[in-house]
Amino acid sequence: MPTRRYLDANATQPLRPAARDAVLAAFDVTGNPSSVHASGRAARRLMEDARETIASCFGGEPERLIFTSGGTEADALAVHAMSNGRRTIISAIEHDAVRSTAGDATVLPVAPDGIVDLGALEDQLKDSVASLVCLMLANNETGCIQPVQEAAALCRRFGAVLHVDAVQAAGRMDVRLDTLNAHSLAISSHKLGGPAGCGALLLAADCPFAAPLISGGGQERGRRGGTQPVALIAGFAAAARDSETDDLVQIARLRDAAEHAAAACGAVVCGDPSRRLANTTCIGLPGVAAGMQVIALDLENIAVSAGAACSSGKVTTSHVLQAMKLGSLAGQAIRVSLPWNATQPDIDHFAAAYARVAARLRPALVPHPA
Ligand code: PLP
Repeated sequence: MPTRRYLDANATQPLRPAARDAVLAAFDVTGNPSSVHASGRAARRLMEDARETIASCFGGEPERLIFTSGGTEADALAVHAMSNGRRTIISAIEHDAVRSTAGDATVLPVAPDGIVDLGALEDQLKDSVASLVCLMLANNETGCIQPVQEAAALCRRFGAVLHVDAVQAAGRMDVRLDTLNAHSLAISSHKLGGPAGCGALLLAADCPFAAPLISGGGQERGRRGGTQPVALIAGFAAAARDSETDDLVQIARLRDAAEHAAAACGAVVCGDPSRRLANTTCIGLPGVAAGMQVIALDLENIAVSAGAACSSGKVTTSHVLQAMKLGSLAGQAIRVSLPWNATQPDIDHFAAAYARVAARLRPALVPHPA
């Protein structure tokens, strides 16, 4: 069997051993965390320990951390609970988890470097309508880190509330709700190297949380009904803790090496390279459809993605790259995102494969490797 190289961490991360151990151990604890007997209390203790760990990793308070089924639900819950008659303002590069629930929102433009236009945000906030602003901390396709702290200061000056989608940022940079000074933060377990099916919405003390999406049995202090998946939650916490030990400098070094190899074949980097997640690069190969590149690299045993790749297998032109006004390059860029356990051989394999693919798909422009 040839070795496969997984460079699609922004779609999902490999499960961390610490998370796997935590999940398996928690599966042996039988009990509903809402039950009052000793079995229930044991499950609850596991869950509350995890809640404390996750809240402390991301600069929040455990009593204001709501467990959800993942990042999508955390975003949907934030929009639902906080809009409450407010006008919604989102950036043009938000994930569909936000775009699809924000409805008829005002959309903020981004510059060609992939960074949101804060002047446009200020102009919108100045007209004094109560607003909910949704701004992601780091973009899932380009890795570009958005000026969330500055946006939060603007929102607070004009009395708006700010929800931050930190699903991609968490585990790939320092993420703290208290430092960002936003009103809420969405995170997702599987993007951190924990199990899929679990995430959280972290609320600031002054977050105006009007109503849950699911009320059910009143779990999560009445903010999200449904029996909590204790084992997944335990794995989520272990992944959050473990991700703090990742060597992001080494990951950035490997990412840069992959990027240089692609650039040597004529690829163009999309987004400001100085304001990016350590693990992400978005590289366009002029004249070659992104879907073709993904398939060709897959045949070379490398997993990467094109466009918004976590959406049900479809390859569509990226709304993110379109918003950056990259023209035809928007349909010709792939995302390479390194997992927490990426290695130099992964990058060597990618570099050689990319050179072969580029030479085959752009024969007129790239000399065939020796
Ligand atoms: N927000 C961003 C920025 C994402 O990249 C994703 C998934 O790719 C989500 C939200 C949705 O997270 P989940 O897969 O946990 O539902």
